[in-house]
Amino acid sequence: PAAGQPLLEVQAVRKQFGGLVAVNDVSFDIQAGELVALIGPNGAGKSTTFNLITGVLGLSAGGVRLRGESVGGLPSREIAARGVSRTFQHVKMIPDMTVLENVALGGHLRGRSGSLRAMLRLDRAEERQLFAEAERQLQRIGMQDAMHEMAGNLAMGPQRLMEIARALCSDPSLLLLDEPAAGLRHKEKQALADVLRQLKAEGMSLLLVEHDMDFVMGLADRIVVMEFGTRLMVGTPAEVQASPAVRAAYLGT
Ligand code: ADP
Ligand code: MG
Repeated sequence: PAAGQPLLEVQAVRKQFGGLVAVNDVSFDIQAGELVALIGPNGAGKSTTFNLITGVLGLSAGGVRLRGESVGGLPSREIAARGVSRTFQHVKMIPDMTVLENVALGGHLRGRSGSLRAMLRLDRAEERQLFAEAERQLQRIGMQDAMHEMAGNLAMGPQRLMEIARALCSDPSLLLLDEPAAGLRHKEKQALADVLRQLKAEGMSLLLVEHDMDFVMGLADRIVVMEFGTRLMVGTPAEVQASPAVRAAYLGT
């Protein structure tokens, strides 16, 4: 993006499900190379906001801009094609295929019959390219040693990293992660945080939806706090930690 222009702008977005306003007038932006966390209690509207950005859900009002261009209302594959990649809250994989195959399959994970090539209708050159890219991304995040293991044998932490490798295969400029640390052990959380720090150091922009406040504190450049579908505050981790309103909403104190 041009100097000073945010990579992503979320502008007064609103999402209504029937009579329920899940997200109301939420705005924030992400600068190129920035790691922004979206936090809030369960039901605050985090995943809905995430889905509005990725085009999985249509906006009831407001706008989303990428490098200054409106992408609100575009189908999710169009938004993905413009460099926005995501992971899912629940890992999607074929357990009895290798990690490498799972990453190479990318967004094409649907059925499980026949060879990868037949499933995707690829020629040999395309298949080779897909696998080379998967291998490159697994190496990038330090998972090369697990490449030929069955995905189903991975612990939860490495499964989440596998998801990240897959999301990286499309060469995104913005990576969105929905609760990547949920259910992970302390050591796995640290390994995940290291990978996210590395990606940021490489210039990636990231939006991390997270329930775990501690996890994002040492990681995020800025934090957007949501409560009851609205934006409670945006600030640095230190500002958020010092906010009585956030403490009240989040910790109930
Ligand atoms: P969070 O991710 O912060 O836990 P969500 O964005 O999932 O919160 O949900 C926000 C609110 O919107 C909740 O009250 C939830 O029940 C409601 N909601 C989410 N998705 C739908 C949907 N598809 N239909 C109806 N209500 C929904
Ligand atoms: Mg959620």
